[in-house]
Amino acid sequence: MMDRILIKKGMILARTNFRGIQCDLCQQRFAGNMHMHEIIARRRTIGDKEARELSFQPELCSILCPDCHLIAETEANERLLWLRNFNFYGEARVRRMHKMLTDTYPINHNLPEIVNE
Ligand SMILES: [Zn+2]
Repeated sequence: MMDRILIKKGMILARTNFRGIQCDLCQQRFAGNMHMHEIIARRRTIGDKEARELSFQPELCSILCPDCHLIAETEANERLLWLRNFNFYGEARVRRMHKMLTDTYPINHNLPEIVNE
């Protein structure tokens, strides 16, 4: 599996245009200093190397500006980030990666059920 720094670089590249790097939450563009955010928090996969690696795959992560990173873990914002990833990668792909993680490491976590709203 790719390491976290390479994954972050790829995610940033995929969100960059001539106006800057787009934040997955506020959708504004920035010149730099973007944060990679594991939507399934790092503290939940502590002690399990495989689960930890799965948790930083792009489908389960976001690129955020520093302000958004501070508020990313509210229930409403987490939901928005999953919807963003469903849109960005395809819902099936996000669900597959999420299942790999929850099958590997039995955390009690569910993706939003919605599809159309
Ligand atoms: Zn932001």
